[in-house]
Amino acid sequence: MPECTRACAHSSAGIYAVASAMLGLLMAAASAAAGVDVPGPGVPETLARQRAAAYSQIRYELMFRVPEQRAARVEGREVVHVALRAPQRIVLDFTGQLGRVVANGQPTAVTAVDGHVTIPESVTRAGDNVIEIEFTAGDDALNRNDDFLYTLFVPARAHLTFPCFDQPNLKARYTLTLQLPDGWQAVANGAETRRTGGEITFAETQPLPTYLFSFVAGKFQIETATRDGRELRMFHRETDAAKVARNRDAIFDLHAAALKWLENYTALAYAFGKFDFVLIPSFQFGGMEHAGAILYNASNLMLDESATQNQLLARASVISHETAHMWFGDLVTMDWFNDVWMKEVFANFMAEKIVNPSFPALNHDLRFFLGNYPAAYSVDRTAGSNPIRQSLANLDEAGELYGAIIYHKAPIVMRQLELVVGERPFREGLREYLKTHRFRNATWTDLVRILDARTRENLARWSRAWVEERGRPDVTASLKTGATGTIARLTLTMSDPLQRKLAWPQRMKVTLGYADSTRDVPVYLASTTTTVRAAAGLPAPLFVLAAGGGLGYGNFILDDRSRTYLLAHLEQIRDPLTRGAAWVTLWDNLLESRVRPAALLDLALRALPQETDEQNVQRVLGYIQHVYWRFLPAAERIARAPALEAMLRGGTTQAQTASQKSAWFSTYRDVVLTADGMEWLTRVWKRDEKIPGLTFAETDEITMAMELAVRQAPGWQQILQTQLDRIENPDRKARFAFVMPALSADARTREQAFQRLRGVDNRRREPWVVESLYYLNHPLREAHARQFVRPGLELLREVQRTGDIFFAANWTTALLSGHRSPEVAREVRDFLARESQYPQRLRWMVLSASDELFRAAQSP
Ligand SMILES: [Zn+2]
Repeated sequence: MPECTRACAHSSAGIYAVASAMLGLLMAAASAAAGVDVPGPGVPETLARQRAAAYSQIRYELMFRVPEQRAARVEGREVVHVALRAPQRIVLDFTGQLGRVVANGQPTAVTAVDGHVTIPESVTRAGDNVIEIEFTAGDDALNRNDDFLYTLFVPARAHLTFPCFDQPNLKARYTLTLQLPDGWQAVANGAETRRTGGEITFAETQPLPTYLFSFVAGKFQIETATRDGRELRMFHRETDAAKVARNRDAIFDLHAAALKWLENYTALAYAFGKFDFVLIPSFQFGGMEHAGAILYNASNLMLDESATQNQLLARASVISHETAHMWFGDLVTMDWFNDVWMKEVFANFMAEKIVNPSFPALNHDLRFFLGNYPAAYSVDRTAGSNPIRQSLANLDEAGELYGAIIYHKAPIVMRQLELVVGERPFREGLREYLKTHRFRNATWTDLVRILDARTRENLARWSRAWVEERGRPDVTASLKTGATGTIARLTLTMSDPLQRKLAWPQRMKVTLGYADSTRDVPVYLASTTTTVRAAAGLPAPLFVLAAGGGLGYGNFILDDRSRTYLLAHLEQIRDPLTRGAAWVTLWDNLLESRVRPAALLDLALRALPQETDEQNVQRVLGYIQHVYWRFLPAAERIARAPALEAMLRGGTTQAQTASQKSAWFSTYRDVVLTADGMEWLTRVWKRDEKIPGLTFAETDEITMAMELAVRQAPGWQQILQTQLDRIENPDRKARFAFVMPALSADARTREQAFQRLRGVDNRRREPWVVESLYYLNHPLREAHARQFVRPGLELLREVQRTGDIFFAANWTTALLSGHRSPEVAREVRDFLARESQYPQRLRWMVLSASDELFRAAQSP
């Protein structure tokens, strides 16, 4: 809304009169109400607190009339019941179009400002209040398609559709009636109770927060199955009957297995009566856990015959994840969205327990390690790290909480918590937590209190380091060898690099490495210095890896002997998880200038052709690219290019599967520098050369063309033009045309390509912008691109204000990705120093995105 809404609150624009005769009186009432305190846009925490303290026993009786025509508006009517202890104004959230309001039987004029509808105190009373509202729903949260629609209200978007108290801790019961076009089906949280003509009524729900209330209506097929005495229904729009037949039993079985497992683990029966789920084509997320009516992205569940193990695992995981939310999130809900991480972590944590045993062929520990640790470290090692639990002043900022710390550090921390408390006491604590707070809300602190009573560990202290504060410990190992060639003493020392004297108590495994074997020794790192008692008397190892078993979380600083040994022999370690942990540790040591970039590249060139685990291969290929572009001077890159390219070409040929071939080839494509290498890539792009076992999609050819152009490969202009002509998909064609100037060899053209990003209209297609910025700042264009850094940073606040939630971070990463010079590092530091009033989350984001630049600029 424009700024003037606040100032205009007392004008008729903000008033919805029900009878013109009453207008004078209404004007007075409205201006008085607005003159008190206006909550402001979004859902501020202060408003949420006031309402949670004052309102109770909320019920919504909702009716929506859904028209056949997608463009016609959805009209609604509701009765809101809310209990008050004493008469007081009632503030609802709503941004749609308000009609008639009748409060406790009286037609009422209300103020509607900043997305809040205020019922004046004069018409309220102690006890139950009944507010009848007619309205026109906004379309933004209704996801309307030609013959179906679905609501998606997370985190606080219900008020775009109907007037409500749009915060997670005002749970309410909902009764819903839908008037629908002929032939439409509908599903909602409650069971269908009545159907007359085009009108369907659903039973009253259990208490739910607004973000879990949902309905879906439209043309759907319904599959029904009974499992363990419970009827399950699947709504879908799949037209391929064979595909449905092939998938349906597996989908029902996976839900039934998850329900059974969760009822057993939590000792609480499924709480929401009937169980339906809806498969939506191109759904925004993998799934959304609306109680009793889960929504899924159809393509994740309806698999093709050729589905890989990874796709089967992903399907089982998303089903178990959403089903776990029925307890974690739906039955017990976070009090405020600052604890949104809890429900996500628990859903993943449970899903892994449910699903992993069904996929014994996969190395789940390595998967967990490589899937979470490097991503968590990429933020947590930087000056821009943030705690898992952050304050959140307004629900309209809830999107800014999402990032690597919530998605990747929180699962690591939860696994540690279970290890520290013990599997059984942990489960019993969760049972108590769910039972105590069921149908209500709880905070992280409520859970910590329950678990604290079940362990000797001081969990409040534990939580402070792991959850409330940012960062990770530095950990060093020191080994004393006895006269007989055995370990006399092995000690681990933990310190806080941010000088807060924090300790991160954790269960770890220290790997002791020998010529042809390794041995994992468990240790509880409880305080600053810990002796690894179980190591005493064992043969003295060739290396000590405190990140052993992929368990410990921290910056593990290698001693000289271990570092030298791993750089010379890593590929001889037999256990894939230990190799993975060694790679991640060496990378951290490189970033701390303890491993030379050239030494790591030497190791990668030698070890990668022998690496048997696909997950490790992917990780090391990623490191190669980082070392190559960020940490090697240009002259050294050129000197090393022939050997590197030969190794990557060989890997592409020898890899066993299409996905592995693709990983090797993509790395080759992104690092190639030699004339011969570029000529080969050009032939592949021209389709003159085939790579057995690898087929390229249009997007692959586009990337090849762009990589050739940024290198000014012979004929690059023609390559770009031919590629543009080749592209059939109109969206991709437009995107390519947009990015082309950023690839030009002409400096003026590139400067203009940057200048046009100043216009907000030119930034609407965010992935196009990010791709342009990436190529403008490509390492091969680094010297010329230095001029873009300062204006790019100066635009950042505007970029954040006008863009989607991840845009500012992607913008900054692309802007800085190709730079390694001390000049640019200084430019960033100066910028942050000048902007002393910069918003905290944005400052953190810039610091995270510049971390590798700062380190590379320092390295010799
Ligand atoms: Zn989830």
